[in-house]
Amino acid sequence: MQKPVIVCLDLEGVLVPEIWINVALKTGIEELKITTREMPDYDALMTRRLNILDQHNLTIHDIQSVIDQMGPLEGATDFVAWLRERCQTIILSDTFYQFAHPLMRQLGFPTLFCNQLEIDEAGRIVSYHMRMPNQKKHSVAALKSLNFHVLAAGDAYNDTAMLGEAHAGFFFCPPAHLPKEFPQFPVTKTYEELKTHFAQAGNFK
Ligand SMILES: [Mg+2]
Repeated sequence: MQKPVIVCLDLEGVLVPEIWINVALKTGIEELKITTREMPDYDALMTRRLNILDQHNLTIHDIQSVIDQMGPLEGATDFVAWLRERCQTIILSDTFYQFAHPLMRQLGFPTLFCNQLEIDEAGRIVSYHMRMPNQKKHSVAALKSLNFHVLAAGDAYNDTAMLGEAHAGFFFCPPAHLPKEFPQFPVTKTYEELKTHFAQAGNFK
């Protein structure tokens, strides 16, 4: 008997746009465009981002209203609905629940494993808390230990450990250099392609 299938999806770049880049574009704050590509130390990057929000007196409510207007990527809501009819689906993301919430509503609130922001009564983002290091990889390993057949898709470096841990892992619209470095993961560029790969690897139609 085939094991039941769980699909683990990255969020930003797969189902929704990059949140910080869009917050930077919509608020006009150039400095918020910095990502882990320019600043690989995630702690230093987040501390810098929270300082910038403070300097501009931006609260979680301001950020959430920006994020609310972003919307998921075109076709993402239908893709998630298609997947959830066929297998269990979990989103594994390095973002924060309070940021993702407006987008999750538009995606029909699929299950999301991510991190927390600490917010005071005035809405100021005081700090952030990562649930654990390398949660994407550990989540896939844990699901495998529960005897599920796990498939995964992501678009960036922070997904490669998850893709490697899964029974089958796929890139979705990655930057050009990544598949050269990780040729073991097939590249998909549309939801239709990703559906075909998942259907084949998960043995569903
Ligand atoms: Mg991503």
